[in-house]
This record gives sequence, structure tokens and C-alpha cells, in this order.
Amino acid sequence: MNGAPEAILGILGGGQLGRMLALAAANLGIRCHVLAPESDSPAFDVSAFRTVADYTDGEALRHFADSVDVITYEFENVPTETLDLLAETATTVPVRPGRKALSTTQDRLIEKAFICDAGLRTAPFADIQRAAALEAAVQSIGLPAILKTRRLGYDGKGQVRIDRRDQTDAALTAMNHQPAILEGFVPFLREVSVVVARGISGETATYDVCENQHRNHILAGTSVPANLQPATERFAREAAILLAEQLDYVGVMAVEMFVVSRSGNEDIVINEIAPRVHNSGHWTIEGAETSQFEQHVRAVMGLPLGSTARRGRIAMENLLGQDMDKVPAILAEPGAHLHLYGKLESREGRKMGHVTRVIGE
Ligand code: AMP
Repeated sequence: MNGAPEAILGILGGGQLGRMLALAAANLGIRCHVLAPESDSPAFDVSAFRTVADYTDGEALRHFADSVDVITYEFENVPTETLDLLAETATTVPVRPGRKALSTTQDRLIEKAFICDAGLRTAPFADIQRAAALEAAVQSIGLPAILKTRRLGYDGKGQVRIDRRDQTDAALTAMNHQPAILEGFVPFLREVSVVVARGISGETATYDVCENQHRNHILAGTSVPANLQPATERFAREAAILLAEQLDYVGVMAVEMFVVSRSGNEDIVINEIAPRVHNSGHWTIEGAETSQFEQHVRAVMGLPLGSTARRGRIAMENLLGQDMDKVPAILAEPGAHLHLYGKLESREGRKMGHVTRVIGE
């Protein structure tokens, strides 16, 4: 694939990330075919081709694969069964990022072990197979700690914080006794993330480290540059590159990190890897020379990566359902770049859009 203008990019998933990927692809003359189960998917509005189908519908996946040059995805919980079906039906269409990125990051236990094997630090963690294991893990890791499902958790879903020993039974019940890990609570100074791109020949590029504020476990806003010592910034970028290399990654991914204080110095603890474009990289649309979305399209289509240079000091604010009344004021504000995702139903806590302000150096 040489990224020629007639190229078609297949995207699994039709949310706002798919929508912004399709918009960026269009700027490069690349059309998108989006496959998603919901007929009102935000990405459908801006895609040349659409398929409404389940991710395990073999027939639909075959047609989809036959119609595109490269397949990518916009969410990390693509069933591995989907990749198996794609491999059976269309061995010639590359799926980027590949299987290793998905299988490693879909399971918190495998992901944490992978990060430690790469020589980086995570929160202390333990595999919780049964109630007895939780007692022992609480003993060795200490409290407070967070019990998290191994799979399918996001934005704080599938997590229970344990502050006292008498809360362990309730925590297991709340998790429905699903396979889980216990993570020690990290007393972080701040949360940051690195958006990193890796191309098909192994070339890499990182964006400036961004600082993230969460509210109710959902990203509320991102500011760039992060308030970090230069050595910490360098370490964070190098860690993200290392993880991308070890995953044989092609595309854009984000690495969420905690900044902690160790003997008075800043240190980095890796929280998790998102094998896709990421909410903390939305600022790059106006705030960087190449947006994370265009960068991902470039990487997976085998095009050269673009410059990640920042264009100023940036503040990105997420707009959730309860924030929609701010829209008229944002529309009237000079320099505020509004992005609405076209979601028909607004609900509290649902990501409806975001606004980016480039404040200048
Ligand atoms: P996660 O879904 O694992 O990214 O967690 C969502 C948010 O919960 C993180 O962005 C943190 O604010 C918080 N959190 C998760 N794990 C920990 C931890 N081990 N220690 C402290 N805070 C955490």
C-alpha cells in the first residue's frame, strides 16, 4: 500500500475517534469504510462507505475486507475472533496495529506484565483468581488499593477502590467475581500521557507530553506542555517509544502515566496503554503540525509520519452531556475550536464533543 489517493481505509468502530480519523483521511484524499454495529454511529456521517454489522459477522467482515486496502480500529476491545475471521477471509489486507497490540492491552494482567518486562514501572499488582487471593494480595500490596476487572474496563468502569479490609467481599461482589487484578493505589502528583506514532518501517515520533485532569474517572481536560522536569519529559517519551517498539506497533497509541515523587525527584509509573488514537491527543488537531488522527492514517497507510511540533500552549476541554449548554458561548469565543461528534442522544457523562484553545507560547 502506497497511500495512493484511490486508497480506502477500513475502520472497525464508529465512535468519535473513527469520525475524526475519517475526517483526517479525507484531507489526505483517502476514503474510509467504517464497520460498526450501531446504525447511528458518529463516524458514518463522514465516511464514504458504511457497514452496519456486528464485529463477529463473518459475511460482513469478508465484504468489508474485500473493499479496503488497510484495516485499522478505533477501540481496543475489538474481539480477537474478529481478527481471526479477517485473517481467514482476507489474508492480503493488513490489519494495523497488529494482533500483539490488541492481545497485550485487552487484558490488564498481561499488559502490566508486558510493561514490567520492558523494564518500566507499574503500580504493584496481583492476579486475583478467587477470594483467598484477594486477602493475600491486600496483605502484600497494602491499602488503599483498586480492584479492576482484567478485561473490558474503561473510564473507571469495572473498578472498585478498597480502603479497608472489611470491604474486600463487597468489592468482589461488585465485580461479579470476574477475573481481576488488585493494584496498589499510586499517590501521584499528576497524570500525564504520551501520544506516540510508529510507521511501517519502524520510524517513531512523539508529541509533547500532555497533562490530564480527570473527573469521575473520565478525562475532563488536557493541557500541554505538561508541568514536568525536562528529564522526566524525555523519559516519558522514551518509555512510550520503547513500548511501541516492543509491541511491533504500527499507528498511533497513547501511554497513560502517573508522575510520582521518589526521594524528592519525579518518577514515572505506567498506568495503561491505549492501542489507538486517544482523547488526550485531541489537542493535536489545532495544537500540532500534524494531528494524531492524520498521523495514524499516515502510519497505517505506509505514508511518512508528519511533524509533531506544537503550535503553542494548549488547553483541551471535553464536553460531556451535562456541558452542552456551554456550546453557544464557545461558538462566540474567538480562538475556541469546537468539535461536536454528532451524537443524537445527550446523556450525563457521555462524551459529546471537545473544545481546544491554543493560547500562544
Ligand atoms: P484506568 O481505567 O485504569 O485508566 O483508571 C482510570 C483513572 O483511575 C486513572 O486515570 C486514575 O485517575 C485512577 N487510577 C487508576 N488506577 C490507579 C492507581 N493504581 N492508583 C491511583 N489512581 C488510579
